Amino acid sequence: MIKKYLDSFLHLWYPHICLQCGTDQLDNNSPLCLPCANALPLTDFCSMPNNPIEKIFWGRITIQHASAALFFTKDSIVQKLIFELKYKHNKKAGLFLGRIMGNDLKNSSKYACISLLIPIPISTKKLRKRGFNQAQILCEGIAQIWDKKIATNILLKKRNSDSQTHKDRLERAGKNSFQFYLNNIQLLENENILLIDDVITTGATLEAACNCLEQGRPNSINIATAAYTL
Ligand SMILES: [Zn+2]
Repeated sequence: MIKKYLDSFLHLWYPHICLQCGTDQLDNNSPLCLPCANALPLTDFCSMPNNPIEKIFWGRITIQHASAALFFTKDSIVQKLIFELKYKHNKKAGLFLGRIMGNDLKNSSKYACISLLIPIPISTKKLRKRGFNQAQILCEGIAQIWDKKIATNILLKKRNSDSQTHKDRLERAGKNSFQFYLNNIQLLENENILLIDDVITTGATLEAACNCLEQGRPNSINIATAAYTL
């Protein structure tokens, strides 16, 4: 009862409204109302063999399966959700996106073997600024739907790997994977890894992370992102 009053009271100052249409008729844990959530552009890539995400990596790295849950287009609600997660400290948006991914993955037999979720790490500098790693929040949302272990301390990002000059130099030297490193490498052996990121475009970062993860001799590497840029 007290919580109900407190919620109503808070609502006066901080109204919880749908990010898309502005209605206040929505679940407390969701950034979108039900009709707006139901209108999200799902890709259905999880059930599609040789989907566009898997094709991105053809001839580059060996991955078992890859998919993205939503189409990302400019000025869309998907872009807004990702923006909220990355730049507005909106964890609710991230957990929501994670749950959409979780539903997708759980219903696909291709991902049944997954034993470990690994979020793409961000630099300590970004982590300090943002307060959290957005890919980690996506993992937590996935795990709310699909009971999987999250490994946060295995794949790590090297310091200063964000600088473009540094990146260009490493890429020229064919050492793209050097922006990441592994900790507790033995924990990857025989695991079926699902690497998680927010948006996939060229796949360069994910490719570098996969090259790094391979050193841990996992059984398989899979990729899932919240959105795919058209
Ligand atoms: Zn709405």
